[in-house]
Amino acid sequence: MTIGSMFGDIFKSLFKKPSTEQYPFVKTEAPENLRGKLVWDPEKCTGCMLCIKDCPSNGIELLVVDKVNKKFVMRYNIDRCTFCAQCVESCRFGCIEMSDEMWELASIKKEPFEVFYGRDEDIQFLLDNAAKGETEAPC
Ligand code: SF4
Ligand code: SF4
Repeated sequence: MTIGSMFGDIFKSLFKKPSTEQYPFVKTEAPENLRGKLVWDPEKCTGCMLCIKDCPSNGIELLVVDKVNKKFVMRYNIDRCTFCAQCVESCRFGCIEMSDEMWELASIKKEPFEVFYGRDEDIQFLLDNAAKGETEAPC
């Protein structure tokens, strides 16, 4: 590249619209099928554990509240998740989806990276047990 053509490019760039986007002040729509935060439906879960076994990064864990009555709580460690969607593929019961709306997940705090999904009463059950020292606290 000659100095002359370089100055030409610089001059043209002065009048061009910037290519950069003003994120987070201006937001563009997320692409369709974006792999964002996992969403889990406890009502459909059978406790088969396939999603847990197939996750390559130990991103999810199923805490058993009542196996006979299929009551489970899912612990989702977002900081370990690679958003590969293997768990979504593995679940034969359609319990897991990846949100295309919840994708702004950055945080300087550790807490938002551990999420507990489940029925309120099941999470409360685990909380009560944790308070008694019987299980790990789900929050
Ligand atoms: S998306 Fe992939 S890494 Fe994340 S929890 Fe599911 S299987 Fe694990
Ligand atoms: S694969 Fe589906 S049904 Fe089986 S434990 Fe995971 S979420 Fe529940």
